[in-house]
Amino acid sequence: MADHQEPKIALITGSTSGIGLAIAKRYCEAGFQVAMHGVEAADEAAQALAIAGKEAKHAPVYFQADLSDNAQSAGLAPAVIQQFGRIDILVNNAGIQKVQPIDQFEYADFNRIVQISLDSSYHTIHAALPLMKKAGWGRIINIASAHGLRASVNKAPYVATKHAVVGLTKGVALESAEYGITCNAICPGFVLTPLVEKQVRDQAKAHGMSEDEAIRNVILAGQPTKQFVGLDEIAEMAFYLCGDWARSITGTTISIDGGWTAK
Ligand code: NAD
Repeated sequence: MADHQEPKIALITGSTSGIGLAIAKRYCEAGFQVAMHGVEAADEAAQALAIAGKEAKHAPVYFQADLSDNAQSAGLAPAVIQQFGRIDILVNNAGIQKVQPIDQFEYADFNRIVQISLDSSYHTIHAALPLMKKAGWGRIINIASAHGLRASVNKAPYVATKHAVVGLTKGVALESAEYGITCNAICPGFVLTPLVEKQVRDQAKAHGMSEDEAIRNVILAGQPTKQFVGLDEIAEMAFYLCGDWARSITGTTISIDGGWTAK
């Protein structure tokens, strides 16, 4: 990693919960100045900030924005840049899921998935990249999914969005490769977060089985390890990609999925 006295400035979207919060905690422990983000009001995000900031040299700062609102989405990265001067590390992590056959999917729900994951990544990259280029250093990490590489039934809008995030990753990597900037997509399999806990409840109900049975027979049926991926596994990879030793890793997808995409 470049030997700067000043801390790296890291914006992580959707970092009040799950994967984003785990990355925020890891980055705080590493001494980065973390800009945390969520849709929740500041008082609701306070607990997440306390968790992430427990071992922090630089206390994380919270930015609230509803990424399904285009103006708020476009304003997020500029607000962080206004406060800290730049964004060195950008993690586009915010995302939602809705499980339903495509012929029953309302356009508003489809669009919401696209806006929160894909459109927001455009906005943050668009704002952060010029300053990264100027600095000659930057890291962009997009949290895609195994669904950025494979499809599952009843998840077409999510699958389409995550495939697009992978495409965005490759395009941005090519455009920024000569500026000391890398752009990669981490593609997790199932990680037990609130996003998946809801799917466990829904699948148990839909199949008339217990939540344990739904986890083993439905949720993890396609994940060969039959184990959830740990939050620490994703956070550690997101940290590794920030290092100087990862400077030639760009434009790629990194699967952490218990063997899912080997099939
Ligand atoms: P989560 O539900 O625990 O957290 C979602 C985060 O997104 C929260 O911080 C929330 O504030 C934010 N968010 C939700 N709606 C928002 C909105 N309208 N505007 C702004 N922010 C909003 O989810 P997670 O499981 O940690 O997922 C994080 C990312 O990882 C997502 O992009 C998801 O698609 C991806 N992913 C998750 C899994 C998994 O199994 N959990 C697997 C592969 C990929």
